[in-house]
Amino acid sequence: MATEVGIERSGAAVNGRANAEFEVRNPATGAVVGTPPDMTPAEVADLAARLRAAQPAWEALGPAGRARHLHNWLNWLMDNDQRILGLVQQETGKSWGDTKIETMVAVEVINYYTKNGAKFLADQTRRPHGPASLTKELKVFHRPHQLVGIITPWNYPLGMPMMDVPPALMAGAAVLTKPSEVTPLAWAEMVRGWNEEIGAPPVLGCATGLGPTGAAVVDVVDMIQFTGSVRTGRAVGIRAAERLIPASLELGGKDPMIVLADADLDRAVKGAIWGGLFNAGQSCIAVERIYVEAPAYDAFVSKLTTEVGKLRQGSDPQEAFEAEIGAMATEAQLELVERQVDGALAKGAKALTGGKRADKGLFYPPTVLVDVDHSMECMMEETFGPTLPVMKVADEEEAIRLANDSPYGLGASVWTASRARGERIARRIEAGGVSVNNALAHVFQFPLPMGGWKESGIGARFGGPNAILKYCRKQAFVSERVSLKTELHWYPYTASKARLTDRMIRLLGMHDWKRRLGKRPGAE
Ligand code: NAD
Repeated sequence: MATEVGIERSGAAVNGRANAEFEVRNPATGAVVGTPPDMTPAEVADLAARLRAAQPAWEALGPAGRARHLHNWLNWLMDNDQRILGLVQQETGKSWGDTKIETMVAVEVINYYTKNGAKFLADQTRRPHGPASLTKELKVFHRPHQLVGIITPWNYPLGMPMMDVPPALMAGAAVLTKPSEVTPLAWAEMVRGWNEEIGAPPVLGCATGLGPTGAAVVDVVDMIQFTGSVRTGRAVGIRAAERLIPASLELGGKDPMIVLADADLDRAVKGAIWGGLFNAGQSCIAVERIYVEAPAYDAFVSKLTTEVGKLRQGSDPQEAFEAEIGAMATEAQLELVERQVDGALAKGAKALTGGKRADKGLFYPPTVLVDVDHSMECMMEETFGPTLPVMKVADEEEAIRLANDSPYGLGASVWTASRARGERIARRIEAGGVSVNNALAHVFQFPLPMGGWKESGIGARFGGPNAILKYCRKQAFVSERVSLKTELHWYPYTASKARLTDRMIRLLGMHDWKRRLGKRPGAE
């Protein structure tokens, strides 16, 4: 059975869900844009077995051979970008400007990790740690997990898997992906392209389906890379622990933005708007709450309100660039934003823009909230929507205290004229990444790790070699340079061998001559 975008169902079908499908809708219009298979655990296991069978030849290709296929895939994507981005836009209801950015992630990640893959994966030679090991050659080999699972959310249907899949493939693993049930179409088409259009080995699979399909993926892989909510991430982590497989979890966030009185307010306002409202605020590392030092507060809020008022909302035609802020991906997400804003307003907050859902489609207008505090959900819970709650703080100390008053620790930003001050504050913020005078910038610096602290996750993506090595197992390799007939500590045990061993240990391991020569303290 194939859908509009050619998602093939695999052979096995059990559990009474055989041949089930689910609908994918365009949130801007409500139209059904796809009906992919809701794959059963048996189908997932079948797909996993086929990927495993293809993995050894993939690993044997080496980094240069694997990079060639990734380059072909990237070429195919860019030759078909309008069509694939069209699918992204249909399933997300994004503005075209927000949609276009998704190919940039693919280009940058594939180019960086294909260029550096061989270097990152190279064997490492280690020096022996002491005289007893001098006769040995020591190396560390990086051997991939055979099958890696990559589960992704709906906010960037192409960009999100593109952050993790190329490094995992470069590592030499086979990869079983599970896109969100809200937005599976563009990614399924990318996987079809890999398998059917560019002649690549069949080491990349796509399991479409609802939550249970994701759980089935965790059940069959050797390592899991999960991006999504804290709730699902916790369930994935528990299952991974039961199966004793490594899990890397990229979860939610509530990123604070600290604006100090000496900051360039024009830049800070533009940064707050892009950092908070890009992708209709549906980014894990979005600016979710803003703390402004008292002397700059009125000017900041006034500029912010004026600039937000200029934004246009819609899911505009390709290449039209008639809107900045697109739709919310699901009704549930829109209702969550509504609940948080209504809750804040009921507790005394004011909406200076927006504050109420649009009449048609799943659109929520960009909303600046003031008079907010930490008793409100909009300041404490992840919003994942187009809101900018702004709070006045007395000084730097209060800003840091409030920034850290959160169960999340994904990212943060500090805006100040003094880079030294920015760095000093960053060192006190409990988050996996901090940008000074920019929003979200720390996320796309591939030499740096991108990961969450506290409930925002475990592990990290990127970080130079880490992005590839996290999909590998380290293998310790020891080879004897000189082969003796036997070793001093091997059987049989004899008194003379034991005396010799003891002398050697003392001579080579002690730090003073008395002990080196076998004398004990107090003994003459
Ligand atoms: P979600 O947790 O509901 O779903 C994520 C994926 O998990 C989907 O593909 C879903 O089908 C699958 N899934 C559901 N139940 C599962 C189970 N039991 N086992 C395995 N997989 C299962 O998240 P969402 O609503 O799609 O995405 C929004 C969340 O993602 C937000 O919290 C956001 O902060 C987070 N996010 C984090 C990052 C990051 O890098 N830290 C990036 C983007 C989004």
